Amino acid sequence: EASRPTNFIQEIIDEDRLAGRYGGRVHTRFPPEPNGYLHIGHAKAIWVDFGTAEANGGLCNLRFDDTNPTKEDDEYVEAIQEDVRWLGYDWDDRLFYASDYFDRLYAYAEELIRRGKAYVCDLSPDEIRAYRGTLTEPGRESPYRNRSVEENLNLFRRMRAGEFPDGSRVLRARIDMASPNINLRDPVLYRIQRAHHHRTGDTWCIYPMYDYAHPLSDAIEGITHSLCTLEFEDHRPLYDWVLQALEIPDPPKQIEFARLELTHTLTSKRKLRQLVEEGRVRGWDDPRMPTLRGLRRRGYPPEAIREFCATVGVSKTNSRISLGLLEHVVREHLNRTAPRVMAVLKPLRLVITNFPEGRVEWVEVENNPEDSGAGSRRVPLSRVVYIERDDFMEDPPRTFFRLAPGREVRLKGACYVTCREVVKDPHTGEVTELRCTYDPESLGGSTPDGRRVQGTLHWVSAEHAVPAEVRLYEPLFATEDPEAGADFLANLNPDSLRVLTGCLVERSVAGAPVGARYQFLRHGYFAVDPDGTSERLVFNRIVSLKDTWGK
Ligand code: ATP
Ligand code: MG
Ligand code: MG
Repeated sequence: EASRPTNFIQEIIDEDRLAGRYGGRVHTRFPPEPNGYLHIGHAKAIWVDFGTAEANGGLCNLRFDDTNPTKEDDEYVEAIQEDVRWLGYDWDDRLFYASDYFDRLYAYAEELIRRGKAYVCDLSPDEIRAYRGTLTEPGRESPYRNRSVEENLNLFRRMRAGEFPDGSRVLRARIDMASPNINLRDPVLYRIQRAHHHRTGDTWCIYPMYDYAHPLSDAIEGITHSLCTLEFEDHRPLYDWVLQALEIPDPPKQIEFARLELTHTLTSKRKLRQLVEEGRVRGWDDPRMPTLRGLRRRGYPPEAIREFCATVGVSKTNSRISLGLLEHVVREHLNRTAPRVMAVLKPLRLVITNFPEGRVEWVEVENNPEDSGAGSRRVPLSRVVYIERDDFMEDPPRTFFRLAPGREVRLKGACYVTCREVVKDPHTGEVTELRCTYDPESLGGSTPDGRRVQGTLHWVSAEHAVPAEVRLYEPLFATEDPEAGADFLANLNPDSLRVLTGCLVERSVAGAPVGARYQFLRHGYFAVDPDGTSERLVFNRIVSLKDTWGK
């Protein structure tokens, strides 16, 4: 399942190897900014970065791209590492921080100045923007562009020393104000910003820009292929320019691939933060969130997320993938791996009147018909059981193949029961109990005469069952594009969470650890949520058994 050697990234790597570039090495990096939690889009990048290295016997670094001090925090540094590991990847001892290179990046900047390739500019941010021109109009050169090397060095050192106020000066690359690529119109390399950095504290009051820091960080780490998303395509000439201007040998190359976007799913960190801060969800790990912690809590297996990335593959054009496809892959994975158990979500009491009081019959039920190695378990049958309320109709239509007055059905793995009497609440008329008889010959699930019954129902033994709360999820956004329209919050799905209390789960599930995954027969796949206790479990529905809400 590692990144398949048939995509365009692999073709570039193969070419490089054939040409003997990088001494045949493949070294990638995953460079998150520690300003939020990782989401499903990042999973794609992690899969591409680590997977490409893995498929080529190479290495992949984890590098925190922490050059923007105002938004970054150690809390995210920890969480990101945990999430990458959870997804199944390991950087060994190759954990780096762009901020570790601040000294070297600064030295490179002085070198650019000495080479006449960078200058200190006193234009205000607004003026710089105005001078930059547009797509159809070339930019204008800054009046500070032709300062001498000495003056530039002097001013840049004083910027670093804190002699000038924030925003009053910047260091700019000296490239080409008429370039058709606006990124090459003397881009800013350093800005003055008095901000406390999560690692370097108040050591610096100038910080490098992403487009400058990134290629050099790559070069410092010996990265060969710097894989990133398509929005950086226009920045590649600048990436190359920085490395070339400093005559970096064996320069790394940037290769862009399409972002992963899913229908009904938001992948903007800023907007995800808004959902959390406004209490629209219960937190970053809310099972409806596309964050890796949300998906983990929901019960998505990390292997299935990797499988999904492999299914989508890498491409050069952005598109929105159906959330249904992700759910499909998760469902297929769970079908192979999740043990089956019986859970009654809306219980209806069923008394087997000819089953002796106090007797318990342990019946054998198979754990997973898709996995011959999964074995079977013994489930207790007693006089009082619960079935699903929806599995009984007093006056059923012809197409209802479940329990009704006078009808016989199979209790899964246990016996045949026939409904003899319907007990109702005298005030509300609601059915409160079914009184049934069972055929003692049917114990184990079939009879010697081989007769057919109306259907097979799941059930739990009243005295053995474990109470549970079950949380059913639907997509967090009702619209395919959550950002369609003026206000993305208006697209929130009001029914994204439905909580069922008073559910009953078979005994074997008691004490299941947080995160354990099951198929609840006829209901779908569920995972144990940390909110529960061993006496009262809480389950999250991971996915339904079938695609119920469409593509
Ligand atoms: P966001 O837009 O959510 O803030 P970001 O791109 O700013 O994300 P980074 O921490 O810089 O977040 O991302 C780390 C890496 O993950 C980058 O290489 C980025 O290109 C990649 N990445 C982020 N979002 C996606 C996505 N939706 N699909 C694929 N890769 C992504
Ligand atoms: Mg980024
Ligand atoms: Mg972004």
